[in-house]
Amino acid sequence: MKRTPLIVGNWKMNGLPSFWQELAAGVAGITKQTNAELVICPPFPALSVVHAAIHAGAEKSSVGLGAQNVHQAEKGAYTGEVSAPMVRGCGCDYVILGHSERRAMMAETDEIVAAKAVAAIENDLKPIVCIGETTRSDMDQALATLEKQLRQSLQGVHIKTGDDLVVAYEPVWAIGTGVVPTAADLAVAFPFLRKTLANIYNEEVAAGVRLLYGGSLTPDNADEILAVDDIDGGLIGGASLKVDSFLAIANAAD
Ligand code: PEP
Repeated sequence: MKRTPLIVGNWKMNGLPSFWQELAAGVAGITKQTNAELVICPPFPALSVVHAAIHAGAEKSSVGLGAQNVHQAEKGAYTGEVSAPMVRGCGCDYVILGHSERRAMMAETDEIVAAKAVAAIENDLKPIVCIGETTRSDMDQALATLEKQLRQSLQGVHIKTGDDLVVAYEPVWAIGTGVVPTAADLAVAFPFLRKTLANIYNEEVAAGVRLLYGGSLTPDNADEILAVDDIDGGLIGGASLKVDSFLAIANAAD
């Protein structure tokens, strides 16, 4: 099955309004230079600024908008939280869930991630479910961790087609460190993830899910990493904060 390459920028907690506006306008300006689908996930207060920038001059922008998190409840007394209907109402198509920083710092468990993914799908958002082992270990151990996280983070998450879901494999030890897995290890991990998805759903659904690699992806290593079978794109932190490096990675994906 043909899957459109997907390049997602996770801006994390960076920037201020003028930076957000400029970077979003820059990303909107490069869409014709790549066949990859581009998605920006800015901080919550930037959603409307980024939405306006990517839609300037176009009824329907070809840059997608995503949130970095949502709460699993639809509404209510959850001070400081943001719901799936809210971000959908602000124009989001995607939401990153279970990023390792939230798992580590906000104590998000697989069960919470699954509840959030259910809320996302009910609200017409595509969840980008993040999984990854914490420390660099031997492959068998890593695969066991990944299978457990994937199964638990997708517990009760019903999808109609594979296009309703994105899974990002981000080894935690590779995030922001400049250290990346070998292409050989990725060539074992990614087909394994697709096989696991086929066991959870079925072959057809699994064949449609886009699998992203994340962790210190840069223009220098993107060609080798994104050429690995079953990797359909990247979830990018640091390198998504500059238009040039974001575009270079997108070009490696297509
Ligand atoms: C991330 O945090 O999702 C990430 C991949 O970050 P970086 O690209 O900076 O390693």
